[in-house]
Amino acid sequence: MAKNWYPMINEESCVECGSCVEKCTHGVYDKSSQKPIVIYTDGCVDGCHGCGNLCPADAIQYYGDTNI
Ligand code: SF4
Ligand code: SF4
Repeated sequence: MAKNWYPMINEESCVECGSCVEKCTHGVYDKSSQKPIVIYTDGCVDGCHGCGNLCPADAIQYYGDTNI
C-alpha cells in the first residue's frame, strides 16, 4: 500500500460529481461524502490513476507522481 502515492484534490476545479469517491474501493475517500475527502492515504494503490482518469474537471493530481 502506498505511503508515497495518493490523490490530491484541487478543490477549486472540483465540481463535486462524486465519480472519484464512487470509483475507489480502497477506503481512500470518505464514502459518506460526494465531495472528495481523502481519509486514508495508505489505502491508495501505488501508481493507480483510477479516480483521476474519471475526473471530468482534471482536478486530481497524485502525490508522488513525477509527471506533474
Ligand atoms: S488512485 Fe486508485 S486506489 Fe488511489 S484513490 Fe484513486 S482509485 Fe483509489
Ligand atoms: S471526479 Fe473530479 S470533479 Fe468529480 S468529485 Fe472527484 S475530484 Fe471532484
